[in-house]
Amino acid sequence: MGTPVIEGWFTQDPEPGLIGSSCDACGTVFFPSGLSFCRNPQCEGTSFAPVTLSRRGRVWSYTDAQYQPPAPYVPARDPYEPFAIAAVELAEGLVVLGQVAEGYGVVDLAVGAEVELVIETLYVDDSGDRTIWRWRPVSSSTATNGDNQ
Ligand SMILES: [Zn+2]
Repeated sequence: MGTPVIEGWFTQDPEPGLIGSSCDACGTVFFPSGLSFCRNPQCEGTSFAPVTLSRRGRVWSYTDAQYQPPAPYVPARDPYEPFAIAAVELAEGLVVLGQVAEGYGVVDLAVGAEVELVIETLYVDDSGDRTIWRWRPVSSSTATNGDNQ
């Protein structure tokens, strides 16, 4: 299913999840992992355990990226095309930025709307597909579900 653009930031399961860190001392969860100190300024914890974060969260803020973001957002198209970015609040209490899934834009987003993590191809290079996480609006993906009512 491709190679992650950044190794170790998300799982490669059929139901993928971001890999964060949980502080052994205070339980604060953050993403990405790899810090050597705790994000909690009150805490002096220095050991952390990997934790798979919630696959779903709620849109906290969103925007249209009119300018090319820095790595790892390698442009998939040339010339650069704007796309939507969402800041998503997870149950663990942190906010994770991500591109919005292919085919969705700011018109599909609303503050408080539920989104789900998906893994999509960011670009293709000599090693094949390179993948990144994105946020996909949940309501849109179930809009055709006739059981809703
Ligand atoms: Zn801590």
